Amino acid sequence: MPARTGKEFLERLSNSRATVHIQGETLKGGIQDHPAFRNVVQTYAELYDLQHSDAHKDVLTYTSPTTGEPVGTSFLTPKTPEDLVKRRNAFKVWADHSNGMLGRTGDYMNSSLMALASAADWFAQANPAFGENIRRYYEQVREQDLLCTHTLIPPQVNRSVAGTQQAGGKLAARIVKEDDNGVVIRGARMLATIAPFADEMLVFPSTVLRGTPEDKPYSYAFAIPNDTPGLRYIAREPLDYDRPRHDHPLASRFEESDCVVVFDDVHVPFERCFALGDAELCNGFYSQTNSVNHMTHQVVTRTTAKTEYVLGLVSLLTEAIGIEQFGHVQEDVAEIITTLETLRAFLRAAEADAELNEYGVLTPAWAPLNAARNLYPKLYQRFPAILRKLGASGLMATPTELDVNGPAAADIEAYLQSATLTGAERVKLFRLVWDTCISAFSSRQALYEYYFFGDPVRMAGAYVKSYDREPYKAKVQAFLDQHSLERS
Ligand SMILES: Cc1cc2nc3c(=O)[nH]c(=O)nc-3n(C[C@H](O)[C@H](O)[C@H](O)COP(=O)(O)OP(=O)(O)OC[C@H]3O[C@@H](n4cnc5c(N)ncnc54)[C@H](O)[C@@H]3O)c2cc1C
Repeated sequence: MPARTGKEFLERLSNSRATVHIQGETLKGGIQDHPAFRNVVQTYAELYDLQHSDAHKDVLTYTSPTTGEPVGTSFLTPKTPEDLVKRRNAFKVWADHSNGMLGRTGDYMNSSLMALASAADWFAQANPAFGENIRRYYEQVREQDLLCTHTLIPPQVNRSVAGTQQAGGKLAARIVKEDDNGVVIRGARMLATIAPFADEMLVFPSTVLRGTPEDKPYSYAFAIPNDTPGLRYIAREPLDYDRPRHDHPLASRFEESDCVVVFDDVHVPFERCFALGDAELCNGFYSQTNSVNHMTHQVVTRTTAKTEYVLGLVSLLTEAIGIEQFGHVQEDVAEIITTLETLRAFLRAAEADAELNEYGVLTPAWAPLNAARNLYPKLYQRFPAILRKLGASGLMATPTELDVNGPAAADIEAYLQSATLTGAERVKLFRLVWDTCISAFSSRQALYEYYFFGDPVRMAGAYVKSYDREPYKAKVQAFLDQHSLERS
């Protein structure tokens, strides 16, 4: 089957029977019609339709090596610099469609799967079947254009002990049984974004395992359909309040649900397993396969799109109320421009310094991507702060669409106009600023940017440990030694 259309995505979803607990209800299907999900599901359908649009199909698809049909570019295994550019251009088209607000578009996990499958020999070290499984699974996801989400971390009960030790080892998802056909998983994982409307759940390793016998049941990587019996999701309160686009311009399109994942004796067939009981393999899952490079390539492209959006938004805001000429306003706008140019430079450097890895995949350089993923969680927090500072009380003078078109219309035109906009236009703009920096949707975006790639504090720890600082130490030491020589 070629790259999906929006209609095909919705049809498959309507046949899914994923179990989702939300606001006291238990849904088993019908996600695409539920008020909490129907708008974001429509946005995802639009992304799939873009794959068939005259404007974007050439960049969003390529020819499948197995069927000759067009399939999604995020599945393309890059071999040449042109392939990497094509991948980035495809990421950008989808990211632009949501102003970078959708973190879990399919290209995120597709990029990971592409790299994992290319490194099938690495999986085969433990068992040749695992190598074959990951290769076959990637092809299935590519050819059926499935939407995958993933869940990595154990529930947050007591972080002073390892995930494997929570509640005496009876809480985090673990293998409780192995039978002739597969394994049985019991317990929970903390979070999975877009789980209610994804097709597939990837249950991959994340926290570092120690390789002790106790870690064995927690060392696994597998993928299961979203409506596998025993798999349940507990969704947080939705932030799409089913309000008009005018009033909640972002939440009414881009609200990706986050869910706790419960495994109630879920049976996973062996052919869906990529690693079992091997802590060392699990710990090297992302770095040894270079999957993290390709995921971060997608992430930095998305955050570039998001930063472009914030720059455009702040510029319309400052022009609208005539504050462009003030020095501190320019300083804040300059901060956003600097972030944008920094991200663009990281992307360019990652592509320019890309190298073929041992599996023949052209891999974007890790140093600039790693710097970007360590910086952005903090840089993004400044954007809502800047928008709030520059929008000031104007962010509270934001009546709803019913007011703009209702009995308050004349007052809104008279008193809420701005230097460049009519009252109605100013309210429309400021509602967008509000949804970017004040609403519940905006807070979740800020939390997402801070945490979705892992805790920045622990990422920084890993960064410092892995960064080779010896040449710089040697340089300074030589400088110090030179002083001593000169003095003697
Ligand atoms: C909006 C959102 C969407 C997400 N989507 C997904 C998803 O789709 N799939 C998925 O798998 N995950 C997802 N995550 C989870 C994300 O992976 C985690 O938030 C991240 O790994 C941090 O872990 P934690 O939230 O459990 O924080 P914790 O580990 O509980 O940390 C809480 C605080 O304690 C500190 N702390 C805890 N332990 C230590 C330690 N050992 N050393 C130093 N400091 C420590 C941290 O620095 C932090 O300040 C999402 C998170 C968010 C916020």
